[in-house]
Amino acid sequence: MEALRTVSVDQVRDTVRDLYTAACVVVNPELKRAYEKARDEEPSPMGREILSMLVENVELAERERLPMCQDTGIAIVFLEIGEEVRFDRLGLVDAVHEGVRQAWKGALLRASLVKDPLRRGNTGDNTPAMVHVDLVPGDRVTIRVGAKGTGAENMSKTKIMSPSAGVEGVKKFLLETVQAAGPNACPPLVLGVGVGGNFEEVTLLAKKALYRPLGQPHPDPYYADLERAWLQAVNRLGVGPQGLGGRTTALALHIEAKPCHIGALPVAVNIDCHAHRHKEAVL
Ligand code: SF4
Repeated sequence: MEALRTVSVDQVRDTVRDLYTAACVVVNPELKRAYEKARDEEPSPMGREILSMLVENVELAERERLPMCQDTGIAIVFLEIGEEVRFDRLGLVDAVHEGVRQAWKGALLRASLVKDPLRRGNTGDNTPAMVHVDLVPGDRVTIRVGAKGTGAENMSKTKIMSPSAGVEGVKKFLLETVQAAGPNACPPLVLGVGVGGNFEEVTLLAKKALYRPLGQPHPDPYYADLERAWLQAVNRLGVGPQGLGGRTTALALHIEAKPCHIGALPVAVNIDCHAHRHKEAVL
């Protein structure tokens, strides 16, 4: 049997803490470039002004070490664990929660989670995180974190369609979802579209699609073409920056697809707002 590589659970905790501390304050450079490009190309004067404010906001946040938005969101953590990895102690998922706790307390981020969906009551430290674990080949651990504001999450939708709806049915559902979201999702948006799988899998596909590097096309040319065409269609809706009209409704659209049952066509549209906070590290 091959020797396993040992990864420290404390290092996972510290990495989660550091990724979130950075994610809520410093936007990824490609997102800032996308704001700037949209500002330079946006025909609506109001849209241009809003996009200029977004650029100014992220520069200010980085300079002053302040969160770029008051809603610092729910913590979503994807762990890809190589099959040749062993951890030096138990408690991996608890360590992820502890990393989130330390980030939110240490950087004075807003605690946005309630203990119970019906009885409410803030947990006080933004835990628990939503943790998703995948086993992958290799001897590395990839940690991908997202801080997801709820304005956009609330406007996301899932539907199990009939296969006869086809590609046009999925596009129609996407456009209706974005139009209905309007200003509530804080556009310009990043859109994750999941197609296939089943009821629980399709929403996860849409979430994973969001956190692909911004604008990186799908490796399958069929889906890469759909991404381009659907992004153009979204940007013809006229929602615009902050929903006040214009061409820049979305900055990027990513699709993830998976096999599904012959009798179903599951689709999910996970909307992310312009804050689009995510970071990743490999241990
Ligand atoms: S949806 Fe995004 S931009 Fe809007 S308030 Fe929430 S985190 Fe902030």
